[in-house]
Amino acid sequence: MSDAAAKSKKHAPQPPSASNFIRSVVDADLASGKYAARGWGGKPGPAKTHEGAAKDPAKIRTRFPPEPNGYLHIGHAKSICLNFGLARDYGGLCHLRFDDTNPTKEEQEYVDSILDAVSWLGFDWGPHLYYASDYFDTLYEFAELFIQHRLAYVDSLTAEEIREHRGTLTQPGRHSPYRERPVAENLDLFRRMRKGEFKDGEHVLRLKIDMASGNINLRDPVIYRIRRAEHHRTGDKWCIYPMYDYTHCISDALENITHSICTLEFEDHRPLYDWVLARLAEFGALKKPLPQQIEFARLNLTYVVLSKRRLIELVEGGHVDGWDDPRMPTLVGARRRGCTPEALRLIAERIGVSKADSWIDYSILEDCMREHLNEVAERRLAVLDPVKLVIDNYPAGKEEDCHAPNHPQKPELGKRALPLSRELWIEREDFMENPPKGYFRLFPGNEVRLRYGYVVKCIGCEKDARGNVIAVHCEYDPETKSGTPGADKVKVKGNIHWVSAKHACSAEVRLYDRLFKVPQPGSERDFLEDLNPDSKKIIAACVEPALKNAKPEERFQFERHGYFVADLRDSRPGSPVFNRAVTLRDSWGK
Ligand code: ATP
Ligand code: MG
Repeated sequence: MSDAAAKSKKHAPQPPSASNFIRSVVDADLASGKYAARGWGGKPGPAKTHEGAAKDPAKIRTRFPPEPNGYLHIGHAKSICLNFGLARDYGGLCHLRFDDTNPTKEEQEYVDSILDAVSWLGFDWGPHLYYASDYFDTLYEFAELFIQHRLAYVDSLTAEEIREHRGTLTQPGRHSPYRERPVAENLDLFRRMRKGEFKDGEHVLRLKIDMASGNINLRDPVIYRIRRAEHHRTGDKWCIYPMYDYTHCISDALENITHSICTLEFEDHRPLYDWVLARLAEFGALKKPLPQQIEFARLNLTYVVLSKRRLIELVEGGHVDGWDDPRMPTLVGARRRGCTPEALRLIAERIGVSKADSWIDYSILEDCMREHLNEVAERRLAVLDPVKLVIDNYPAGKEEDCHAPNHPQKPELGKRALPLSRELWIEREDFMENPPKGYFRLFPGNEVRLRYGYVVKCIGCEKDARGNVIAVHCEYDPETKSGTPGADKVKVKGNIHWVSAKHACSAEVRLYDRLFKVPQPGSERDFLEDLNPDSKKIIAACVEPALKNAKPEERFQFERHGYFVADLRDSRPGSPVFNRAVTLRDSWGK
């Protein structure tokens, strides 16, 4: 199903493993035996293979290749589910590979958070954890091979001059005066680059392909540059670093990847991917069949931003409370918000994979969250905007238990006791002195049921000097307790939740809403101006005693309100803090 079709059919989830164009490619490759000749299961493999990669027999191999320069977000989750999902469904393997070729932006902190995020999502790379930096020696050797085959040269133009020589979309590029350097001179210079004899930027190594190519990526791309920077894994072993395009295809080949799936912006890079691998195969450095790159449309989600640059701006500008702010579309943020891995895997299935760019509405993510949380979250009562309700005819000092099911569809989850006493907290909006037509909750003379308790009749209210209601008064009918034979004696239309004032626990509740107030932040003006000023509200709520010792990350449905999670960082047994994950129904903009 296409992204667009998913939008209109959001309530018809597709079964897992629905077909898509990538699965069709895999099916065809398996049917034709394209990858059967690879060396898995003990047969000889490619000339060069990363140790371990050739050990397990597997039909296909995919990989998820994050750059450790930021936190993963919901867009990455789509790619993770796709790659690991294919491997799972075809009895193949998915590698997790850090694409760590840019030492100035990469850090161990990001590596750790990415490992956490992928396993939190429910995927297991087993022994197949790799780093592009593991291949630096091989990449260097291969670069010398390109030089020896007269297909690479050291260029001594400045970055600015290289850009100038590159030409434009309508004009061919020009040859660098260093393009015809003899092999021996190139080898000598390249080796001295590696030894650190030159300054950063003084030389680069370029492939010699075609300066007149209509595809700019083929106009003698730079594959090595000098950069004196400490690498988070290789330290100061190297002062030259390979470029992404050169590294990525070779890493795929060394790991025996069959299907290298990436987002559409790499479509124009595919000819370079194929060129590099085909030449290495000709040199005898790699064996066929070679991996193939397949592009799909990235996830765009309304009401959030997914570009790393903008996410960094949000964090560094203090517009959110860090990378794991529950409003952030990062996986650490989604997790703190109370979103589950199941909900993220569900949205990945539901939106499918396509070749056409499109936007997925944020409400689809919210629906997926509700769908899973409805299954797993136990029900609880919480009063978010409390006002006192006094049951005038209930004996002072008396208490009794009412019994509430933990999950309406899952009796096996049992019931819990809800203590009841003379004074309760109810929602301020559940009482109105002069209600409009159609209001069935508390107003003088009206009867409602206290959920899981008695039917009460409102007899009036007390106000302060400014006219604010400070307490509502009612009388109960002792014969109407839920679960007793008299419960159905009185029929009422309203049913309100409550907690006993004496037994309630106070809790901090953070009401989160969408971070941006428009579907496509930044499309009309600076994206920061589109921030939703009401995306976070902190309130003091009165919650039932069963919530007092909620464990961090425990998720609940607060009846009539939505799904909440005990905050991972700040919630403590005895003084719980809850984050609203999602409301019960979509009320955005209403
Ligand atoms: P950068 O600009 O730093 O490259 P990136 O978001 O592409 O940012 P990577 O770490 O390179 O980050 O991404 C890892 C993988 O996740 C890539 O294969 C990339 O194509 C994929 N990916 C990134 N963003 C999305 C998205 N919005 N939807 C689907 N896949 C994505
Ligand atoms: Mg990228």
